[in-house]
Amino acid sequence: MNNKVIIFSAPSGAGKSTIVNHLLKLHPELEFSISATSRAPRGQEQHGVEYYFYTADDFRQMISEDRFVEYEEVYAGSFYGTLRSEVERIWAKGHTIIFDIDVQGGVNLKRIFGEQAFSIFIQAPSVEVLRERLNGRGTDTEEAIERRVAKAASEMEFAAGKFDHVLINDDLQTALAEAEKIVGDFLAK
Ligand code: 5GP
Repeated sequence: MNNKVIIFSAPSGAGKSTIVNHLLKLHPELEFSISATSRAPRGQEQHGVEYYFYTADDFRQMISEDRFVEYEEVYAGSFYGTLRSEVERIWAKGHTIIFDIDVQGGVNLKRIFGEQAFSIFIQAPSVEVLRERLNGRGTDTEEAIERRVAKAASEMEFAAGKFDHVLINDDLQTALAEAEKIVGDFLAK
């Protein structure tokens, strides 16, 4: 199958960037999709490297011209989206696109790309490990622990039906090995 995409989504702190960067080093045919955004560059960020930076007015103009595969107003006035030209740029080289995107964006992209896409939700840690860690820390009340555990459980439930694979990142080496296996299998299809 040609023209493939791999989508990684996760709640923050799940180790998504580490896993994505590992895969990019391992497979030269993978290429990271650079999103467009209307937020200001942070620190050393450069146009065309971390993001394509635009003003909110330019971004709105591009929306009206139907130049996005998907976009979201993630924070008020801050738009983020995937340009059709970015998808074409990467596919033109015969590369597979890798997306590092929030959970809602990941669900949208899977819906758009269907069978061409393999979507992976990174979950960290599992409910059991999370409860153990929170108990061990001894700083949270029982009620607070259960609230966090319930949130993690509901995120996992939300993701389970909507992503092709749920990758549990309790142990980074194990998660990297699993990511290598599932991505390798998808690329070989
Ligand atoms: P940040 O401003 O911290 O770089 O990103 C903020 C949020 O925007 C993150 O959750 C990130 O995943 C999300 N994001 C980045 N690029 C895109 C995109 O192309 N589309 C959507 N829907 N969200 C994105």
